[in-house]
Amino acid sequence: MSALLSGPGGASSAPSIDVPWALTDEQVAWREAVATFADKVIAPVAAQNFISGRFPADLVPQIGELGLFGIRVSAERGGSGGGVTDMALAIEQLARVDGSTAGTVQVQAANAACLESIGSEEQVGHIIPRAASGKCFVAFGLTEPSGGSNARNMRTVARRAEGDWIINGAKQYITNSGTPFSEYVVLFAVTSEGTTAGKHEISAFLVPLDAPGVVVGPGYDKLGFRASDTRQLYFDDVRLPASAMLGEPGTGYGAAMETLRWSRVMVSALSTGLAQGCLDETVALVKVRESFGRRLGDHQHIAFMCAEIAAMVSTCRLLTYDAAWKADHGLPYELEASVAKFTSSELLNRVTYRATQLHGGQGLMLDTPVARFFADARVQTIIEGTSEMQRLLISRGLGL
Ligand SMILES: Cc1cc2nc3c(=O)[nH]c(=O)nc-3n(C[C@H](O)[C@H](O)[C@H](O)COP(=O)(O)OP(=O)(O)OC[C@H]3O[C@@H](n4cnc5c(N)ncnc54)[C@H](O)[C@@H]3O)c2cc1C
Repeated sequence: MSALLSGPGGASSAPSIDVPWALTDEQVAWREAVATFADKVIAPVAAQNFISGRFPADLVPQIGELGLFGIRVSAERGGSGGGVTDMALAIEQLARVDGSTAGTVQVQAANAACLESIGSEEQVGHIIPRAASGKCFVAFGLTEPSGGSNARNMRTVARRAEGDWIINGAKQYITNSGTPFSEYVVLFAVTSEGTTAGKHEISAFLVPLDAPGVVVGPGYDKLGFRASDTRQLYFDDVRLPASAMLGEPGTGYGAAMETLRWSRVMVSALSTGLAQGCLDETVALVKVRESFGRRLGDHQHIAFMCAEIAAMVSTCRLLTYDAAWKADHGLPYELEASVAKFTSSELLNRVTYRATQLHGGQGLMLDTPVARFFADARVQTIIEGTSEMQRLLISRGLGL
């Protein structure tokens, strides 16, 4: 039994199934480095930032130094050229202590990689190294007030005017769009007028957040991911040169979906980390807290609830690294990414319910890690395609 259960990452991690078959020695060392950083630097300030809803700008340089923002950017452009697995390992370890920081890193690392994949040297060559180090944040502007699930039904429009582009519209729930580091948004907009709704040609643009006509709204006061930065963006006759378009006309939607596809593996990793954090906290608690003259963990019902949590954490991890391994080995992984994202985020919500229950009144106190993880769990079934959208994608995989 103990050979299977080895407690991946973090000095005080409770045992759950690890994935040694999927990892190289370098990846194991990388995971350990991020786990140590998470325990020493992120964990001590996580509760305070969550309660105050404060974006921890002071931590960004250290996160950048560790190379977390540039994991998926090429080495030539200042990143480490890592794969999906490398990034998932880091996101899992950050989330084990703090969902908000994991979310901030996940979005910036994904957006830096997205920008590198769709921008030309002239357009993004000077931005990518700064994005990879965290000196410049790039947001991802897809979701609109009219709805995020049906992303194709977009209202933000870019029209041609004397060789330039004029952009009008609004985006909502955009992560990392108003931090002290936020400089650009990769904006998705309709570039074909007069086509049927839902069949628009959608293109990607690199929009400076300080361009005339761009308004960055105030930060949302959120339930989960409270210490991450999320805002509404408005575009009122924003005039950009022709060179602002990233890639060919009409390729924006495909680029957005490609980023979302592998980012789903990251949400699965993030959910795994939050679930492991719940397991760690709960096992530690039930080993010392007593009721009816016995440790909580000596009551079989409670021991069994912990066993269920460990089984769910293990399921999340196995699905995450299966999808990540396939992505890194050039195998089809779209179905795996959806199954992992859907299952991990849904299981996480069961895990956080049990963990807060086993903490009793303590589990409802905002400075308790499991209370934060409970709130952050609600985010995971919504972002990067809701659970309903994952069911849709998985059912399509069944030919339905
Ligand atoms: C913290 C946070 C950060 C985010 N960051 C970003 C970001 O950086 N960039 C970005 O572009 N977006 C971002 N989002 C937006 C996120 O991707 C959307 O919230 C998500 O896609 C859902 O869209 P919606 O909120 O408009 O819900 P809706 O699309 O309005 O859906 C509402 C409900 O209806 C369900 N539903 C919709 N259609 C169907 C259907 N056909 N069948 C069954 N059920 C259906 C949905 O599953 C959901 O439960 C973020 C959101 C959050 C909460």
